[in-house]
Amino acid sequence: MENKKTFSFQSEIKELLHLMIHSLYSNKEIFLRELISNASDAIEKIRFEKLYHPNKYQKNTDIPKIKISIKKTENKIIISDNGIGMTHEEVIKNLGTIAKSGTKSFLNKINKIENKEKNDFIGQFGVGFYSSFIVADSVSVYTKHASNDGDEGTLWISNGEGDYTVESTTIKKHGTKIILFLKKNEKEFLENWKIKQIIKKYSDHIPVPVELENYDEKTKTLTWEKINEAQAIWTKNKNEISKESYQKFYTYITNDSEKPLTWSHNKVEGKQEYINILYIPKKAAWDMWHKENKHGLKLYVKHVYVMDKATQFLPNYLRFVKGIIDSQDLPLNISREILQDSSVTNILRKSLTKKVLGMLNSLKNENKKKYQKFWDTFGLVLKEGLAEDSSNQKVIANLLKFASIKTKKKQQILSLNKYISNMTPEQKKIYFLTSDSYKSGLSSPHLEIFKEKNIDVLILSDRIDEWMMNYLTEFNNIKFQSVSKSDSSIEKLTSEKNNNIDINQFDNFIKKIKKILDKKIKDVRITYRLKNTPSIVLTDTNDMSTQMAKIFSAAGQPVPKIKYILEINPNHPLIQKIKKVENQEEFSNWIDVLFLQSVLAEKGSLDNPNIFIEKINNLFLS
Ligand code: ADP
Ligand code: MG
Repeated sequence: MENKKTFSFQSEIKELLHLMIHSLYSNKEIFLRELISNASDAIEKIRFEKLYHPNKYQKNTDIPKIKISIKKTENKIIISDNGIGMTHEEVIKNLGTIAKSGTKSFLNKINKIENKEKNDFIGQFGVGFYSSFIVADSVSVYTKHASNDGDEGTLWISNGEGDYTVESTTIKKHGTKIILFLKKNEKEFLENWKIKQIIKKYSDHIPVPVELENYDEKTKTLTWEKINEAQAIWTKNKNEISKESYQKFYTYITNDSEKPLTWSHNKVEGKQEYINILYIPKKAAWDMWHKENKHGLKLYVKHVYVMDKATQFLPNYLRFVKGIIDSQDLPLNISREILQDSSVTNILRKSLTKKVLGMLNSLKNENKKKYQKFWDTFGLVLKEGLAEDSSNQKVIANLLKFASIKTKKKQQILSLNKYISNMTPEQKKIYFLTSDSYKSGLSSPHLEIFKEKNIDVLILSDRIDEWMMNYLTEFNNIKFQSVSKSDSSIEKLTSEKNNNIDINQFDNFIKKIKKILDKKIKDVRITYRLKNTPSIVLTDTNDMSTQMAKIFSAAGQPVPKIKYILEINPNHPLIQKIKKVENQEEFSNWIDVLFLQSVLAEKGSLDNPNIFIEKINNLFLS
């Protein structure tokens, strides 16, 4: 290897470094958590690798541990581990680039938010190794990979500004040693008690011992003190674990600065033996919507760490769940690919899914406020489950929350059970309206009859809702019905309301309308469902809904042209006026305007607004 080369950081890293140094000042101590976490990962990796390929790696009988020493007079902290280490290429790849998808857009977003939140977000994003530069003005990394039998390792040095150098150096044993040369005003981290406190705070439950060097001035002796508990929390009995311990462990696996909303710890024995701790966070991970990024549980097999973000143990719609699973039955040498097809995985996935849904159900029944918080944050993700997981559809439907006419606000607070318990005696279906927003939905003419009859209608305005309603067809044997579709139960609600109008008088009128609109419509008919609106359009029972067509066309997909049913309110003064118009041309203008305004109210836009304007202007002049 040619010695000492200078490299430039990837631009995202430069930006991240800048952000971190300027925003994380209130939470500097996390650098230690990050470095210990990396060291612990490296130790867990070699533990696993040595079980799997015992001959491939350098022999080393040292007990796996992380050591920290403080050199007060030299202003430095040294963190070393006897983990897997890095090869020369890995050093350049791992300590010079970030591969996470969405990093750029994440950085753009984070630049715009408040400092306090910035802190949380960056922490959660996983600033990792680079957080060293919050407290250090120079960092050296000595590392040698365990597969390397020689004694040539790699030394990486940077001041965190734009470049780093890499050179070869002599290292005997595998592992990594990181030396932080502290900035002048960061001397507080040179105190043993301070470092001890930070380790206790963040790293108590990492499964590897962390030892701190103690130098006794009097006796002039060096001793190592184990600071953390170093026992995997999930292997302990539940009653030995405090609430704080669970919370700390959550912070350790997620970097989330907030406490989890709730958690559950289970030891399962029987055909499959496994332990899990599952957490529901309070806030969404920064990349919850980056589906390319992996989301999942931390996997252990027989207490040995195997991989982060094992996606196979929970369905995608539960990707907000964090936690660990420790299986007794999976083989240690399992890869992501094998995991995918393993029957053990499938069984675990089923039971973990049940567990999470059960947890959510208990939260819903036992703590309304927390459940609402959960729903506001993750409801959108959970809704995906209705399509993704038909076997649990009923359970998921039970967890849904909605906005409706009667909730009077766009926040989704109404459960289906509650909706059903408030149904009127004449009501046979669960009615819903899909719309672009709660506000525009609430003012839809489709709701007029329901408001009058005091029947509640769910107002669905999340983008996923229209799609979701294709899967959610009934709840407790009661069918869902869109109020913007033609339906006999809605007609029944209105039929007795014939007040004084003789429908036969409208036969001819309707015939004339049909002739004018002709192929543009599917049907024209009288309705009694309207109060203040002269007419509306509906889609036929089996046709694509307007909202669905909008979603398709926004996604650039071909959409069949919708043929609407035009419904006319015979009681409306405007209809009565039009009915009397004798001039053919004027009548035709009126009908076009009537139709187009109904389409406008339904769709929020028109294919050709100019025609509409022209027709209205014609009417002004006639
Ligand atoms: P993350 O831990 O989220 O991957 P980091 O910035 O903390 O991100 O670390 C980047 C990468 O550098 C790690 O994924 C790992 O491959 C490597 N690395 C960091 N510290 C060590 C270490 N002590 N031993 C071995 N590899 C390490
Ligand atoms: Mg890390």
